[in-house]
Amino acid sequence: MSRVNGKVALVTGGAQGIGAAIGAKLAAEGAQVVLGDILDPAEFEVKEEVGACLRFDVTSSGDWNSAVRETVKRFGGLDILVNNAGIVNFGAIGEYSRQQWDAVIAVNLTGVFLGMTAVVPALKERRGGSIINISSIAGLRGYEQLPGYTASKFGVCGLTKAAALDLGRDRIRVNSVHPGFIVTPMTESLTPNTSHVALGRVGQPEEVADLVLYLASDESTFVTGAEFVIDGGETAGMAHNPVLET
Ligand code: NAD
Repeated sequence: MSRVNGKVALVTGGAQGIGAAIGAKLAAEGAQVVLGDILDPAEFEVKEEVGACLRFDVTSSGDWNSAVRETVKRFGGLDILVNNAGIVNFGAIGEYSRQQWDAVIAVNLTGVFLGMTAVVPALKERRGGSIINISSIAGLRGYEQLPGYTASKFGVCGLTKAAALDLGRDRIRVNSVHPGFIVTPMTESLTPNTSHVALGRVGQPEEVADLVLYLASDESTFVTGAEFVIDGGETAGMAHNPVLET
């Protein structure tokens, strides 16, 4: 129960879904956790377990600066950033609008860039830290009807590697996490097809939180610039071999 004891973590998109599970897990393992979300803190799924709930928009540098300032003021520093806030929108290229593109890039990619930029001074002050960027399996391969989301999540993967190279000498590790289909409010209106998933099921937010906990903890001190897939084997290969099916 103390894998991140004494550490301070900031988790974006923490009101619900994967972010809430990460917040609860880090808090249960001894971290002081600040959850941030664009939603009203009164609506956050997890409140009592964590140190603080803040309302902020990851697309605003001003909001980021105040969130980091507030975290450091209340808890004395910052060690872990989980860039989890994200949105999704659908449409085929040709029909997918500029407005949809701008919206998804702003939250999923620019939000991650702004977050890393905002926390670097505080992490350097602690002589190290861990940044975990939540990408997707759509950050590793293309998905139809998801041009903006796929581009944003590939962007997060690349940005993670570039930042890992820039920050390694400061002992700040940066890794990306690539979930498959996880049951959250984001996916509640979607029908999962698990026929091509090796484990034959969807994932739970707590399972992603377990992986994030490892990356946040000192169990992963030699791990940086890496991609962590958590998808039940969805991207392992072809669950149905077309050669055998003919
Ligand atoms: P969710 O919609 O349940 O939660 C996302 C949270 O982000 C929400 O609380 C939302 O209010 C918040 N948010 C949105 N825009 C924001 C902004 N501008 N500023 C601050 N907060 C904002 O989604 P989830 O399924 O828990 O997804 C969390 C992350 O995991 C996302 O980055 C998502 O792309 C990624 N992901 C999810 C799945 C899945 O199957 N659920 C799969 C792969 C990756």
